[in-house]
Amino acid sequence: MNCIFCKIIDGQIPSYKVYEDENILAFLDISQLTRGHTLIVPKKHVKNIFDMDQNLASKVFESVPTIARALKKAFKPIGLNVVNNNQAPHQTVDHFHIHLIPRYEGDDFKMVFANHQDDLKEEDYLEVVKKIKENL
Ligand code: AMP
Ligand code: ZN
Repeated sequence: MNCIFCKIIDGQIPSYKVYEDENILAFLDISQLTRGHTLIVPKKHVKNIFDMDQNLASKVFESVPTIARALKKAFKPIGLNVVNNNQAPHQTVDHFHIHLIPRYEGDDFKMVFANHQDDLKEEDYLEVVKKIKENL
């Protein structure tokens, strides 16, 4: 399979590994959005969150706090973002991955949370809840 993360997992291309067990691999993101920026990937190839079963998800997500705490101890960031992109607009590698991005005073990493609360009425929230529940 022509997947760059599968090739990293197989050792066909090099990476800066920080943690590995039978289910997951954690390695430095080559872009280093901030110092310590790390990716966690399942060793099994799944494209994105929509393709993950619960068992694999639990294996991948359970490693997040451990690696987050290691980054906190190592680099003393002021905080840390956990980011996971699925499909558009920002998934560039189609092998599921979680970004751990330590945050520092004055860094240039941006996340924008626009607040649309003023545009919504209670019925709008209820409609959204209904739609989600119908599809669970
Ligand atoms: P995303 O935009 O969420 O799909 O992120 C994919 C990430 O993979 C980007 O932040 C890239 O910098 C990173 N990346 C791509 N190729 C490599 C590689 N060979 N080693 C480490 N990180 C990589
Ligand atoms: Zn893959």
